[in-house]
Amino acid sequence: MHTPGTYYKASGQFIPKRLGISTLVGILLAIFIGWLYYILGRINPFVYLNFIILALAMFGSAAAFTIILYHSQSRHTKLNTAIVVLLCYLTWSSQWAFFNQHWHYGYSFWGGLFNPLTTLKIINARGDQLDMGRSFLSGGFQYLCYIAELAGFMFTAKWITASKDYFCEDCKQFYTQQASHLLETEIENFHLLKEMGGEDHQYRFLPQLVFVKKLTPIYAAQKPVMKVTLHYCARCHENNIVSVSSFMQDVDSSNKLKTPLINEQPITVGMYIAKTTADVLQRKFV
Ligand SMILES: [Zn+2]
Repeated sequence: MHTPGTYYKASGQFIPKRLGISTLVGILLAIFIGWLYYILGRINPFVYLNFIILALAMFGSAAAFTIILYHSQSRHTKLNTAIVVLLCYLTWSSQWAFFNQHWHYGYSFWGGLFNPLTTLKIINARGDQLDMGRSFLSGGFQYLCYIAELAGFMFTAKWITASKDYFCEDCKQFYTQQASHLLETEIENFHLLKEMGGEDHQYRFLPQLVFVKKLTPIYAAQKPVMKVTLHYCARCHENNIVSVSSFMQDVDSSNKLKTPLINEQPITVGMYIAKTTADVLQRKFV
């Protein structure tokens, strides 16, 4: 049991064999998803559909590599990030390795997969081929698409690792999270109650506050928002963790019902709270 008021510290532990096998399976999955992506892209006659195929590939890799990360049970956050970035990169590069095989550009498959320089040469060869074919994709546009693709896969990596900071040592699984917001006077009340609670507040006062689960878009001026995130182990519900950050909610300039949060200022990151507090919060956050 961790004492409420103390902070989570990643143990950094991992079982090398388990992590090694997970990574290897991850690489095979990356090649497979990359191959599917290549096949779907090749048989697709409408170039604009490519973005839907990309979205599917991103979704597929997010699901697959999340499972890999869960299975690895690694608490080494830096290593985990490196592995996920590698897997997402390989998903992207493997399509080029398959391109190379199909059009006989003459590079090795593994080079196209693992060596970024070879991948670039393959992309270049593909570019020349498109230019010769006078495809409307010729010129700089195709390269922009390739960069957007890579950015898409890197975004996926960021998304996968975003909520894998906390790990339950008893149940051997990553935490789940739930968040809600405080606005206007409730932000003032937060500071007031925190002050009254003194050094050892342990966020016992949080259940008294009125939370807003879903923010409404704003159109006039930015306004402050506070976000409270509860991290919990979905199996044992012990050792609950809270993180609090203040943000500015940005104006929805695109008129698409967006509620972007910018300028994050962390107030508390990864603090253990009492089970009673966490239970009330979880009910409030649903
Ligand atoms: Zn647990």
